Amino acid sequence: GTVFVIFMLVSDRAVTVHKTAASVDPLSGMLNRRGFSEACARVIESEAAAGRPVTVMIFDIDHFKSINDRFGHRAGDAVLRRVGETLAREVRLGDVGGRFGGEEFIILMPDTAVGAAHAVAERLRLAIAALTEELAPGMPISVSIGVAEKSAADATWEQLVAAADKVLYAAKQAGRNRVVVADAFRKAA
Ligand code: GH3
Ligand code: MG
Ligand code: MG
Repeated sequence: GTVFVIFMLVSDRAVTVHKTAASVDPLSGMLNRRGFSEACARVIESEAAAGRPVTVMIFDIDHFKSINDRFGHRAGDAVLRRVGETLAREVRLGDVGGRFGGEEFIILMPDTAVGAAHAVAERLRLAIAALTEELAPGMPISVSIGVAEKSAADATWEQLVAAADKVLYAAKQAGRNRVVVADAFRKAA
């Protein structure tokens, strides 16, 4: 298939990402889990070499099963597309976004510490909640967001994702439509 080569400028470094059919999610047009993981490996390496922080945010659409059940799978797909477009529009050039699973999205922010990422996550949460006005009446749309900064304690990408996933779960437990930030980094510092 066609290969798009994307040169992303991450901080002062150019990172090359090969976008192929195997690495892109056709519904949202974002990188899929595999494409995202590959792009991230390069970005994390580049930022670590430059001594810069990176932060990951995981988004999970709230009560998405009920959106499908009440409004149909096609309406659910439209929500996924609009959420993906909103995230892609709102982030900085150099941020890496992907669809991580069914109704989960992920963004890696190079050269970004957790405090700045928290403010971005809040902005994105509000932008997505605003889709409620635009789509079907009576169909509330919101996301819960887990945010974690990569610390020395996160030896692997999997550990960083697990840290963000853990606080995402806490955001769900606390009532959804909210951002929770992992404090592991500050404890370790
Ligand atoms: P929570 O607030 O706890 O996240 O609840 P939820 O309903 O969002 O979570 P749950 O994991 O129970 O349901 C996720 C749903 O997402 C179930 C699945 O059918 C749906 N889904 C996954 N992929 C797609 C897709 O590509 N299109 C549509 N329309 N639905 C999808
Ligand atoms: Mg989910
Ligand atoms: Mg969900």
